[in-house]
Amino acid sequence: MSKQDYYEILGVDRNANDRDIKKAFRRQAMKHHPDRNPDDASAEAKFKELNEAYEVLSDAQKKAAYDQYGHAGVDPSMRGGGGFDGGFSDVFGDVFGDIFGGGGGGRRSSVQRGADLRYTMDLSLEEAVRGVEKTIKVPTLVPCEPCDGSGAKKGTSAKTCSTCGGVGQVRMQQGFFSVQQTCPTCRGEGKVISDPCNSCHGQGRVEKTKTLSVKIPAGVDTGDRIRLSGEGEAGSHGGPAGDLYVQVSVREHAIFERDGRHLYCEVPISFIDAALGGELEVPTLNGRVKLKVPAETQTGKLFRLRGKGVAPVRGGGAGDLMVKVVVETPVNLNSRQKELLREFQETTEEGHRKHSPKRHSFFDSVKKFFED
Ligand SMILES: [Zn+2]
Ligand SMILES: [Zn+2]
Repeated sequence: MSKQDYYEILGVDRNANDRDIKKAFRRQAMKHHPDRNPDDASAEAKFKELNEAYEVLSDAQKKAAYDQYGHAGVDPSMRGGGGFDGGFSDVFGDVFGDIFGGGGGGRRSSVQRGADLRYTMDLSLEEAVRGVEKTIKVPTLVPCEPCDGSGAKKGTSAKTCSTCGGVGQVRMQQGFFSVQQTCPTCRGEGKVISDPCNSCHGQGRVEKTKTLSVKIPAGVDTGDRIRLSGEGEAGSHGGPAGDLYVQVSVREHAIFERDGRHLYCEVPISFIDAALGGELEVPTLNGRVKLKVPAETQTGKLFRLRGKGVAPVRGGGAGDLMVKVVVETPVNLNSRQKELLREFQETTEEGHRKHSPKRHSFFDSVKKFFED
């Protein structure tokens, strides 16, 4: 099965830096998040793809392997178990194993580390900023109790496979090549269970929903991951458990927009307050604060409230809250109010070069443009 290029999945080019990759991932993850697209199986598949692509491209070591070897360099099903340190020969060997139908080849012993699990946690902006403790339920595989994870019925034990002598691999001649293949008798396990356990049918592991309490530190953002060591799937035949990765996804907020450590919000202001100046009540994550708006404030002006942003989880102190004031044109005016405005307009007519310098200089430029 051919897989789509990770860079294409995220919609970035190959020279994209960490920041670009993170930004692209955030944008796409927000769009395709399963919670936002209920009943849309393709969104869920896309979201999985995004996570997979991001997991590789956000990790310098995996990214380097991917850049050099493509999917074969990073696909966990193409490697022998264990951490990602497969050198050139490993990768090469696995590619060959795959070509000659070695299947999930590369397994060298029956003891395997359990798979890593991923859980996407949706947080509100407030929860992400302040930190929160959440209880999650994760379906996972745990060691089977009756057989102690061995897969063999109590009182019996697995026997060493006679086909491969316990190695899990057999050598086959394929034309000019001598190819190592997964042993067909024991499927690479190296052991054969003649009397399988009734509870797990020889798997050594059973499905169970685990309830975990996860502490989310303050300052996390979409794309951040929290690793819960050993909380992934149980290993097979007594192998170590995998890890559980909690992937953070922060929901959009009604008022604030977050960009790293800074928050942005727009506050409407009447044109009278903008002209005369006044005090505005503006929201912060910790309640309302007063903001003094000077006289003659223009629409779109940004006011910076220092330290009212977010303290990032990796440290570095809180960012700022940027308040953008937007002048609102009055609507639904009655005839008296309109009259007052016309009266006001007349008083500014003579000196309108003085009262509206921007408008004036703009129309001067326009006039010049058409004359030249
Ligand atoms: Zn075998
Ligand atoms: Zn069992």
